[in-house]
Amino acid sequence: MNTRTPERSRALSQRSAEFMAFLANWQADLEPLSLESDWAAHGVAANNVAVFVVDMVNGFCHEGPLAGPRVQGLIAPVRAAVARCYALGVRHFLLPQDTHESDALEFAQFGPHCVVGQSESATIPELAGMPAAADFTVVAKNSLHPAYGTELEAWLAQRPEVRYFVIIGDCTDLCIYQTAMYLRLAANAAQRECQVVVPENCVQTYDLPVATAQTIGAMPHDGDVLHLIFLYSMALNGVRIVKAVE
Ligand SMILES: [Zn+2]
Repeated sequence: MNTRTPERSRALSQRSAEFMAFLANWQADLEPLSLESDWAAHGVAANNVAVFVVDMVNGFCHEGPLAGPRVQGLIAPVRAAVARCYALGVRHFLLPQDTHESDALEFAQFGPHCVVGQSESATIPELAGMPAAADFTVVAKNSLHPAYGTELEAWLAQRPEVRYFVIIGDCTDLCIYQTAMYLRLAANAAQRECQVVVPENCVQTYDLPVATAQTIGAMPHDGDVLHLIFLYSMALNGVRIVKAVE
């Protein structure tokens, strides 16, 4: 059966209309989180907290084929969240960052980007110049995942007291999703209490409209829909999605 008929498309959008309206309301109703209150509620101090700043590199913010305005718009809120956490005493800042081999397999999907040794793979200067940067630990990765083939698991194993995670950066449906789900599911598997918090104002994804994608032979990517669907999927799995952290 031909699944591409207009009738099929209409059937899906009609069938999903109620759920999509629910999702839009869910997003609109997200509330900011006071870190101090939340830490008190969970018996957490600043040394129990790690902030993950994911892929805030030049190659997604400033230069190269994958840089774009939606992720560039994260720079100000991400800086504010880092500054706030630093002011509250957090000193664990982990930066999982694309640092690809020159022939990375991932380039089959996304094209060449953020190659090791090139400026695209460097932390953006807006973050690298902050006082908190003295406490940045870059986790170089060659895939969307923060722990496959990286130092992250060892870093976490050496610091069992770290059990409250704030995840910010890009992209919501790609590396943010992988990072938040990894931390949540690793804790679940080990029966280890932890909190994984994703402030919606500090994560984003890219947009590639259907018409543009078809012109260049790429897969379309609706930034608004995929941002929302993946936020919801994280929430469904126990990741705490909040409007912002204060
Ligand atoms: Zn990549």
